[in-house]
Amino acid sequence: MRIDVLGVGFDNLTMDEAVDRGLVLLHEEGAHYVVTPNPEIVEVCRENAAAKAAVNGADLVLPDGVGVIKGAAMLGTPLKEKTPGIEFAARLMERMAGEGLSLYLLGAKPGVAEQAAEKLAAQHPGLVIAGTHDGYFKEDGPVVEAIRQSGADAVFVCLGAPKQELWMAKNGPATGARLLCGLGGSLDVFAGVVERAPKFWSDHGLEWFYRLCKEPRRIGRMMKLPLFLVHVKQEKRKK
Ligand code: UDP
Repeated sequence: MRIDVLGVGFDNLTMDEAVDRGLVLLHEEGAHYVVTPNPEIVEVCRENAAAKAAVNGADLVLPDGVGVIKGAAMLGTPLKEKTPGIEFAARLMERMAGEGLSLYLLGAKPGVAEQAAEKLAAQHPGLVIAGTHDGYFKEDGPVVEAIRQSGADAVFVCLGAPKQELWMAKNGPATGARLLCGLGGSLDVFAGVVERAPKFWSDHGLEWFYRLCKEPRRIGRMMKLPLFLVHVKQEKRKK
């Protein structure tokens, strides 16, 4: 059973359990997709029914950061631990490399996915990079066809939220891949274009603050975080 945080149902798993589950999905017939909502995306889902359906329709819904963990605890239904998308992706690639599985990288500005592909192939010997495509395309059809032709087992879909969740829900089955993961800005990090917050900051639940200092233009988006906490408090009172 999923744990509800303001209308989004989260799977209550440790990182190890989440990665195991990802592997199982990779070996099951049909297309599956993983989403990793943070408080900002939960807030988007409260206002956007299509986004909410795409997020809740995922086969695996993982809490990306400390905000969702705090929210769930405040509501009296704690989640085991945060399972950030980028760490989930790294662990999944390790396991995929061991099995010689293939991965397609979709998203980010032109050139970034190729750069990420080079680095990831070097970091994970055995992992096959089936192909790459930037995230600024007009029509889905040719991109879906390119993924299908590549024969990829999995796809990292990094188009930002909620675009990537809607994209996976709509196009997942036609890609022929068995697992699609919506991972926001992860390709920028894998490519080395954007730095992830040092461990100190994430250990103290302050990754968001680090990102804000690096990219002040995110302030508008980040105002959703206090709003999320207000909504959690309202929900708690209702309960
Ligand atoms: N992006 C994309 N296509 C778009 C819009 C965004 O490929 O139409 C990419 C963007 O270049 C970036 C990622 O999606 O690499 C979103 O990054 P952001 O930091 O906003 O995501 P977060 O990790 O915060 O969810």
